[in-house]
Amino acid sequence: MNIGIAGLGLIGGSLGLDLRSLGHYVWGISRSSDTCKQAVAIGAVDAACQEVSMIPYLNKTDVVFVCTPITAILPTIAAIAPQLSPKTIFTDVGSVKSAIVGEATKLCRFVGSHPMAGTAFSGINAAERNLFKNRPCVIAPTEDREAMVVVRSLWESLGMLIYECDAAVHDRAVAWISHLPVMVSAALIHSCQQEPDAEVVQLAKNLASSGFRDTSRVGGGNPELGRLMAEYNQTALLKTLHTYRDVLQSLIGEIENGNWDALQALLETTQAARPLYIK
Ligand code: NAP
Repeated sequence: MNIGIAGLGLIGGSLGLDLRSLGHYVWGISRSSDTCKQAVAIGAVDAACQEVSMIPYLNKTDVVFVCTPITAILPTIAAIAPQLSPKTIFTDVGSVKSAIVGEATKLCRFVGSHPMAGTAFSGINAAERNLFKNRPCVIAPTEDREAMVVVRSLWESLGMLIYECDAAVHDRAVAWISHLPVMVSAALIHSCQQEPDAEVVQLAKNLASSGFRDTSRVGGGNPELGRLMAEYNQTALLKTLHTYRDVLQSLIGEIENGNWDALQALLETTQAARPLYIK
């Protein structure tokens, strides 16, 4: 196939590496000429430039993956779709779906995707092979079944495990397991920073170990990504945060009242539930 990638960062670059190794012709676009050069140099694309109109054989493109930050997904599609054949299928990789799928479908043949794969790094130099292997990928169903089949089979060819689900259901699910954890983890770090005794703070910093590393990891990540999660998934995220606040309030109540058996009973249910999420 002839495949385009708009946005050559961690996800776009990794996608290019795997698609090219499967024999596809892959072109890419990026805002920066250095990124374009680097994408070609590491073998993530066959050709790359800043202007989509400069791509050779553009009208032969079968599929375009839009791998920019969430804010740029719709503007990118709006800018490049009119320059491609109306048969070209577009998909994206954005970690929210409701804000994108409906609008994108008005602009082109579109299938919303969310490959649940990533690392703590960003940019073209973070691209790596087999990033998507054995990882889940959500696809939002559309009436264009032919486009669905094409996009689904491309993700499957990279080793992804496909879950078809409505955009709103996707957004509610990722609010629980991705967006809420970022806010909870950020709140944890921010709370530690409220300790007024400098000696306690210093000792806490010296003693912090694996427990703090695990629970603070996502709260210490890219602030822009956290903001976008909240901005583009506000309704679903707020529902999870309100439930979280209620649960925290009831935990505070058990501790204030010395209800140690009730506290232990709750911790027993969470111990049993965790393996249902982390396999
Ligand atoms: P990234 O490494 O920062 O790459 C983003 C790319 O988009 C860069 O190539 C950047 O290229 C380009 N870009 C940045 N701002 C842009 C703008 N305003 N207009 C056009 N292009 C722009 O980010 P990423 O981790 O690959 O994430 C990309 C997408 O994947 C996001 O939508 C995210 O929700 C989704 N996603 C990320 C993960 C993850 O764990 N990282 C997982 C699943 C899905 P230049 O600066 O060179 O132009």
